[in-house]
This record gives sequence, structure tokens and C-alpha cells, in this order.
Amino acid sequence: MTNQNAALDNSPLMPQVPLLFEESVPGRCGAILPKPGVDETPLPADLVRGALALPELSEAQVVRHFTRLSQRNFSVDGQFYPLGSCTMKYNPKLNEEAAAEEGFRRSHPLMAGTYTQGNLELMYRLQERLKSLTGFEGCSLQGSAGAQGELAGMLMIRARHRGGSGDTRRRVLIPDSAHGTNPATCTMAGFTAESIPSGADGAVDMEALRESVAGEKAKTLAGIMITNPGTLGLFERNIAEIIRIIHNAGGLVYGDGANMNALMGIIKPGDLGFDVMHLNLHKTFSTPHGGGGPGAGAIMAGKTLAAFLPGPVVVRDPEAASAGPAMANPASANPAAAGPVYRLEKPPSSIGRIKSFYGNFGVLVRAYAYIRTLGTRGLRRASEYAVLNANYLRALIRDHYPTPFGPERPCMHEFTSSPNLGKDIHTIDIAKRLIDYGFHPPTVYFPLIVKEAFMAEPTETETKETMDAFAAALEAIAEEARTSPELLKNAPHFTPVGRLDETAAARNPVLRYIPGAE
Ligand SMILES: *Cc1c(COP(=O)(O)O)cnc(C)c1O
Repeated sequence: MTNQNAALDNSPLMPQVPLLFEESVPGRCGAILPKPGVDETPLPADLVRGALALPELSEAQVVRHFTRLSQRNFSVDGQFYPLGSCTMKYNPKLNEEAAAEEGFRRSHPLMAGTYTQGNLELMYRLQERLKSLTGFEGCSLQGSAGAQGELAGMLMIRARHRGGSGDTRRRVLIPDSAHGTNPATCTMAGFTAESIPSGADGAVDMEALRESVAGEKAKTLAGIMITNPGTLGLFERNIAEIIRIIHNAGGLVYGDGANMNALMGIIKPGDLGFDVMHLNLHKTFSTPHGGGGPGAGAIMAGKTLAAFLPGPVVVRDPEAASAGPAMANPASANPAAAGPVYRLEKPPSSIGRIKSFYGNFGVLVRAYAYIRTLGTRGLRRASEYAVLNANYLRALIRDHYPTPFGPERPCMHEFTSSPNLGKDIHTIDIAKRLIDYGFHPPTVYFPLIVKEAFMAEPTETETKETMDAFAAALEAIAEEARTSPELLKNAPHFTPVGRLDETAAARNPVLRYIPGAE
């Protein structure tokens, strides 16, 4: 069992302080309320619940309980988190400070525009930065997730086709390596998803693509949803030709921009001819995410679709231009005097709102702070390091974790391996064992076209030492697979609960603590 001890030495999960759940003692109290200055009156009887078994605890007990609970989780601030496709990058603390600024934190979405000029200016500036970074005409910050941005983009494509060549264009092509949200949003927007195969080099099969828009078929084509770099971590070298083929057939091109971490400051998707694309502000531009949000899926659109963007978007009043930017000019602190510079407006053919109010404002502040901190050159360097790190890690582990698609090509910011540790060892076993070594497992079993997929994205901020340690853990696991495979099969060993039945957990979730239950 020496190997198990090796994992133990590395694991930040040990030793574990036991988590107590039944600490309540009758009469113990966490807060002492001051004596009221008015006479006490009993509450109306129908408002009082007699048998409410609330725990009675001191403040310190409550703090320790919840702090320990929080430490039972993996986080970017605690561990290496190389989750492919989800860009779990380090979130600079400066962004948190900016988002927590009093004026941002305390503003309310129903406040009049004259009082929220600073918020609106930040949104306007973010729209402009994102436009120049991606080469698009228009930007809406309404989307609260990547998937919602996708839905908005597909509804925009639908709206445009309806107003033009009729409602007969319903087919949307989607490469078979796509993220599951692509076919889902396409279907929700009323289209039919059609899968396009990938070749051995991981690129879209061009013959299949041409065939699917040939002759009469062009008339029913709505467009394509495509991710570049694709989820195999490879740049789609035929992207210009693919866009040309789709446009010639009368279709529009949706770009899934979740992989923008490979391209910042290097390529502008708008220049390539994409018609609409979402950005995952909560992946590419930092923001703690995972576990369901909050997020921001900015929607970027070119000439063809900018008028259809969901709204409102922030516009700058050209008349008020002389007043100067509200944020930079304290003299215009009384905004009513100069007249508001920034206001909300719906694009002319807008598909409407896709969210209440203005999007997840706190995430927008973080994205703006991130962009301003790095600047255009810094963003480019971040992408370059993201790509360099992924290639370094891929090379370190390729003996036991080879890349089946395009193995001879450099990868982009992530790569997808197919581990070969023996026929009885599955990716799930490797992933669970990695937890014992103190690493968050990469994305597993996605993309679906890769056998036993193991998809890693180290991101730009990881040190060489961290990636070396991760590679060493993967090598140790490969050795364990040979000498003591049961270590992998029963992993994880050092967590409060071991291998879970994930299907049962998803089907019958227990979402709250039930006293006395197992
Ligand atoms: C994360 C991701 C999405 C969806 O974004 P959410 O913000 O999770 O809704 C779509 N496509 C790709 C490639 C992604 O990685």
C-alpha cells in the first residue's frame, strides 16, 4: 500500500477534521439580542410554530461548521482545476474588489438612468472592448450563461430568416464534436439539428459538409453552429471555407465562443465571417464559476444580425458627448445637469429581452476589470500561455494518455486524450484516483466521439511545477494501474464519501440534511 501513502502525502484533503452535524445543546445561543425599548407583546398564535426543531449553537460552532463544509470542495483557489472546455482560470482578487465597490454593489436595477451612469458606462465600455477584441459590430450583455447566449443567437438567426427567405430554413448543421448545449439550443429555437462527422484529423469532414448543402438542400439550410477551436482542442483550419460554403447556401454561421481563451488578441472571429457568437465571460474573462453560475454569455453579432440582438443594450448619446465620460469626470457628478450620456436602447429588430433587467452585472464588472488589467497585449499573452501550457502538459503525459485526433498537430488551449492504462481501467477510475492526489479531474467522457475521453485545460496561470506534479500523479496512476489496479477501481479513498452511484444520485437527489437519516 505504499502507493496509497504516496497519494496521501500529496493530498490536501487529509487529514480531515470530522464534520459534526448534531451539535445542538438546548439553551445554547449564538447571538444575544438587546432588550427592546418597547413592551413585549406575544406574537399572534397562528404565526408561531411550536415544533420547529432549530439547532441551538454558539456562533463559533456555526462558523466552523460552514467553513469546514466549504473546505470539502475543490476550488480554483485551492487546487489545480484543469477542466477541459470550461476554462476554470484563476480569478484575480482585484476583480472581486471592483465588483464589491459600494456604488456597484448597492445600485438597484430600478434606479433611474441618471443615477446609474457609472454602471451604464462600464457596460458600454465592456461592449466596446468585446467588439474590438472579436471584430463584431454589435454586443448585448443580456445573456446569463453561454447556453443562453446560444439560444439568443439561434433565435436571431430564426428572426432574420423569417423576415427574408421565409420560414422554410430549419436545418442546422452541427459537428459531432460539439458541446451538448449546441444541439439543445438549436432544437429549443425551433430548428432541426443535423450532425456533421469529423475526420481522423479532428477537422470537419468537408465532403460531408458540401453534401449536406448541395442542390435543393441549400433551400432548407438555416446555418451551422460551430466551435473554433473545436472541443478536441484543435484549430479548425478550414473555417474560412466552411463559412463561405454556408453563406453561399444562404445559411448563417453561429460561433460557439466558449473556446475564446485560445484566441484573444490573435484572431477576430468577426473578421472570419461568423454572423453571431457568444462569449463565456465567466470562462474566458475570469469570474468564479461552476456549480451553476452566476455567469454571463455576451452575444456578439456582425452586420447580418446586429439589429436582431436581444436588448436593451447600452448606447452613448452623441449629443451628450461633450459632457465627457461620467466615470472619468468628477465634475459631472451631478449627472442631471449635463443630461445622461449613456442610456438603454433596444436594437431595431431586437428579438426582445432574454433576461430581466441587464444581465449579471457583477460578472460584467469582473470581466471589465480583467480586460483592463491585462490590456490587449496582456490578453494575447494569456492566450499564448494557455496554448503553451496545454501543449506542454499534453507532451508530458502522451505515453499513457495519447491524443487520438490530430496527434501530430499542436493543440490549442486544451487537448483531448484517450488513456491506455489497460483494458479494464476506465477514465472514471483515473479521474477518481486523481482526487486522492489532490487534483480536480479533467473533463471526462466528452467530447462523445473520443473513446474514454479525458479532456484537460491547464489554463495560462498554472506554473510549470504544478503541471509537472499533475503529470507525475498521472504517471503514478499509470503505474498503479499495472501493479494494484484495485486502488483505481475503488478510488477515491481519502474523501468523506467514496465512489458514488452517480446515476442514483442524479435520479434521487437528497438536497437537504435530514436529521437521523443515513
Ligand atoms: C461551457 C460551454 C458552453 C455553455 O456555456 P454555459 O455558460 O455553461 O452555459 C457551450 N459550449 C462550449 C464549448 C462550452 O465549453
